[in-house]
Amino acid sequence: MNCPIIQLAQQLIKIPSISPNDYGCQKIIIDRFKKYNFLIEIMSFNDTTNLWAYHGKQGKTLAFIGHTDVVTAGVIKDWSYNPFIPTINNGFLYGRGSADMKGSLASMIVAAERFINTFPNHIGRLAFLITSDEESKAINGTKKVINELIARNEQIDYCIVGEPSSNIKLGDIIKHGRRGSLTAKLTIKGTQGHIAYSHLANNPIHSSLPFLNELINKKWDNGNIFFPPTSVQIFNINAGIGNSNNVIPGELVILFNFRFNTELNEEKISKKVKTILKKYKLDYKIEWSLSGHPFLTKKNELIDITSKIIKLHCGYHPKLLTDGGISDGRFLSQIGAQVIELGPLNKTIHKINECINIIDLQQLSIIYQQIMQKILLI
Ligand SMILES: [Zn+2]
Repeated sequence: MNCPIIQLAQQLIKIPSISPNDYGCQKIIIDRFKKYNFLIEIMSFNDTTNLWAYHGKQGKTLAFIGHTDVVTAGVIKDWSYNPFIPTINNGFLYGRGSADMKGSLASMIVAAERFINTFPNHIGRLAFLITSDEESKAINGTKKVINELIARNEQIDYCIVGEPSSNIKLGDIIKHGRRGSLTAKLTIKGTQGHIAYSHLANNPIHSSLPFLNELINKKWDNGNIFFPPTSVQIFNINAGIGNSNNVIPGELVILFNFRFNTELNEEKISKKVKTILKKYKLDYKIEWSLSGHPFLTKKNELIDITSKIIKLHCGYHPKLLTDGGISDGRFLSQIGAQVIELGPLNKTIHKINECINIIDLQQLSIIYQQIMQKILLI
């Protein structure tokens, strides 16, 4: 197909860059950026390849954020087409990463090329931050690059994360925030003993039930106009000594995860959990791990500009939402940028037969280019 966006997307899809591998995807992007005199920096940490590149030297910075890694294809024979042989059928491009997010990467890169061709002397900085570790641990990717940029006093004013944010039609949804994610590993201690002599033991499964009940039924907050109420899910419970039917276990391990909004934070949640544990007089040990703070970009210029452009091109106003899992947007907000996520439809992401509408990718590229023009020419 004679469209530079689709050609680039196909080139990238051909590379089986299962997270956190990049396998040369970023090299393809770097070679293109070099032709446009981008300042290029490869910032690799351990198993992760990261690219920080920008064009223009002064003024406000508009950064596009993306990733070259993909999730596993699963059972390849279940696909209609090989997930790493990009195939076009009926106006759709099939392949792992076509929607999440090699397609939007191609859209934003070609948009940047067209923009620079038309406005080689634009005022602001047009930047790209691309990682190969978004789909797995996200430890050595955007998070580390942002920490490094913060340490250098780099300024990023506006960020567009190209994650597939659209739901039914291209651009129908802009994500302007995400909930935080906090996991607890709770160990309840009891006393191991013979089931027939339960008075000599202390069963941690029994003693923890009132606590667990309160944990899942508690109203943690009421949410706010931007976020739904905080929720918790227990996702693993483990106790017991093999299959023996006469031993009361001495320990119970419970894993649970909070998806929390901007009304709460790590400290407030752990304090509330501690209070409940105390109430039921449990002997416990708890370890917390925070995967992401919530972030929120309240109504601002970037949302206004993007909404107007979408209205102009698509004929409808996008909805602002904060739902979904965590994304790299959480790291960008730490640098003080206005952050939104705007990308193609998310209907097939991480699924068998992942695909993307070709016209959507072309439209998305025009929308990205319009945003560049609106922000970088003032
Ligand atoms: Zn993604």
